Amino acid sequence: MDLTRALSIACASALLSAAVVYPHDAKANGFRVVIDPGHGGVDLGTVHDDGRVRIAEKDVTLALALEAARELRARKVPVTLTRDKDQDLPLGPRTALANRLKADVFISIHMNSTPIPQLSDAQGIETFILNNTTDMTSKRLAALENMVLGGAAEGAPEQADVALILRDLRLDANLAESKRLACVIQDSLLASITQLGKKTAFMPARSIKDRGVKQALFYVLLGAEMPSILLEAGFLSHPRDRALVLSPQGRRTIARAIASAIEEFRRAKGTREAQRALARCKVH
Ligand SMILES: [Zn+2]
Repeated sequence: MDLTRALSIACASALLSAAVVYPHDAKANGFRVVIDPGHGGVDLGTVHDDGRVRIAEKDVTLALALEAARELRARKVPVTLTRDKDQDLPLGPRTALANRLKADVFISIHMNSTPIPQLSDAQGIETFILNNTTDMTSKRLAALENMVLGGAAEGAPEQADVALILRDLRLDANLAESKRLACVIQDSLLASITQLGKKTAFMPARSIKDRGVKQALFYVLLGAEMPSILLEAGFLSHPRDRALVLSPQGRRTIARAIASAIEEFRRAKGTREAQRALARCKVH
């Protein structure tokens, strides 16, 4: 049995055992996290299919989100998932739920992909904030993520609305905090995954690529009334990135890194430290 196949089987059983329902409890201690597993139901997201193994982004994002929610709950941080099972869910209701709950952060989890897997550059982790971009790769990725079943996403703006969105973005009071959240999450993930590679000789963690914090018009983040980010937790099309998210150890590391970053974000809020972190935070 080759590694990919073994990992895929391990993933499938882990995904089944991860089907735990988290109740939407009240905002108990004044800080609530909403985690959004990308895609779901008939919207598979990106799919890796090499003829032997078939893995859909929607299953990986759900497994990561469930694990992150479990980790946050263990730390007594209230968390709600936009979906806790495989179901259809348009983009609009995801932030609507976060707004309704008056959440403090909104984190949408996705997996990246490339149509040309031979591209050695197409690997690694990147975190996005909602903003306009001139970068073609980010634009293409946003267009892919904004697509639901080959059509425009529900609530997705027409071209004519883009000017209005950009005006709103300029007035977006959450932009700085979204940026700080993105940098804290990106740094935490890179540090934790690198540490996993050093500590355990876990091969996929050895060469994780830092793609940095970026910006693009992701519709799922539109309308969020709190700091919000979209995490691309690696490329399903890249063997090492794939092996990382398909291993329970890799997923646990990612979930812990997200939870630690959220705690750090919350702890530093409004302090000089937060200002310094923001000044260091570079958006590409
Ligand atoms: Zn996605």
